[in-house]
Amino acid sequence: MNSWNYEVFWKEMLNQIKNSISKEEFSMWFNNISYCSSEENTIVLSVPSNFFMDQIKQRYLPLIKETIGELSGDKINVSFTVAKKDIKEETNKQKISQTEEIKKHPDLREDYSFKNFVVGENNSFAANAALAISNNPGKSYNPFLIYGGVGLGKTHLLQAIGHAVHKNFAGKKKIVFVTAEDFTNEFVSYIKKLKPDAFKNKYRSQDLLLIDDIHFFQNTDRIQEELFHTFNALYGAKKQMVFTCDRPVSELKNITDRMKSRFEMGLKVELNPPAFETRLAILKNKVESLNISISDDILELIAQNITSNVRDMEAALTKLVAYAELVNKKITKEIAQQQLIDVFTTTKPGGISIDIIQKKVAEYFNLSHVDLRGRKRTKAIAFPRQIGMYIARELTEYSTTEIGSDFGDRDHTTVIYAIQKIEGSLKSDPTMEAIINNIIRAVKEHSSK
Ligand code: ADP
Ligand code: MG
Repeated sequence: MNSWNYEVFWKEMLNQIKNSISKEEFSMWFNNISYCSSEENTIVLSVPSNFFMDQIKQRYLPLIKETIGELSGDKINVSFTVAKKDIKEETNKQKISQTEEIKKHPDLREDYSFKNFVVGENNSFAANAALAISNNPGKSYNPFLIYGGVGLGKTHLLQAIGHAVHKNFAGKKKIVFVTAEDFTNEFVSYIKKLKPDAFKNKYRSQDLLLIDDIHFFQNTDRIQEELFHTFNALYGAKKQMVFTCDRPVSELKNITDRMKSRFEMGLKVELNPPAFETRLAILKNKVESLNISISDDILELIAQNITSNVRDMEAALTKLVAYAELVNKKITKEIAQQQLIDVFTTTKPGGISIDIIQKKVAEYFNLSHVDLRGRKRTKAIAFPRQIGMYIARELTEYSTTEIGSDFGDRDHTTVIYAIQKIEGSLKSDPTMEAIINNIIRAVKEHSSK
């Protein structure tokens, strides 16, 4: 303990100064200074900020020095230290800066966050489930499985869960994001290095395991075996797992039954293609986050022409932006149309022909293509034909009249009846959906080649 204590001078000085300056001035400046400590010939005062300190020095330092000097009869120096006045405020501030300081997770793409994910009717269930899981990982819905077609936001949502858990738990949860392909390759390389235990330890010690594109595990027996044990270990320890897949698990081939049943034992949610409004909202959101200006009618043009894949929409947007920058021109609707013609024609549902649909339906039901297009009305043909009409309506822009004429010169009312009938059985018969999805996938795979 040192023997100097100038606090009493400080207090008396406050009393005196109070009378010599206005009340407002006093409360603004002097209520925010507090006595801190004393050293030989020096009084240390604590102030809330550097800015505050500079102001005090400029405005009041001579007055403070003079008053304290008079009171003590000595020459006393004044020094300042910057410290937060209110302890509560201080801890809050610390908390805030702590959250700011959480390092980014190395496996995750920064832009794949919930903030950047536009919620529409096609994905709201998946997005809300993902949010709930981020707040309570491992507690409910374990595992969580997101499935759906290409470019619909599966990877984005998966990573958003990773970001949110990382942030919600202040970086304290062990999180790994990996594609099924990388998981497999990593396993192989650990085996080669004769370190299978290191691989096991890594994955079985996670709090949150995010595996993207599990359809890649088809035909990989050994990795499925490993995954099976990883799954059981994490599940037993109530650690959250989230998987994505490009199709329903029931349609995966060469995945062991025990693995299939595990993928499906928690919550599974399908991502569907977004409707026009959601597509437009996604584009607007993207434009905003990139801070570029593109008029709404051009965004509408894109949203109208690209219907089943968000990634393709983004690619179209990027293409336009690049073009605008290169030629230094404002994008008009004409330019957009011209520039995107190839994008539009490859992704337009019109790129799928009725012919391909008929072939794939015929293949699926073991019928001849010719029969499907013909006039025969046996039940064995009539039902697949109705499915073909339904799919044609779903995947192409052809009118019911055009579809009818391609299916054995039938009337458009026959097509409408067929569509209603299939819609009806989709509701009542759970196997219908699988059959139709299977055919649709075959059609799309064929058409995208
Ligand atoms: P998937 O994994 O299903 O193939 P991705 O998650 O890679 O699809 O999404 C493709 C692109 O579309 C990504 O850039 C993603 O950010 C974007 N995207 C998809 N859905 C949305 C959405 N609802 N809101 C904003 N961006 C989206
Ligand atoms: Mg993906």
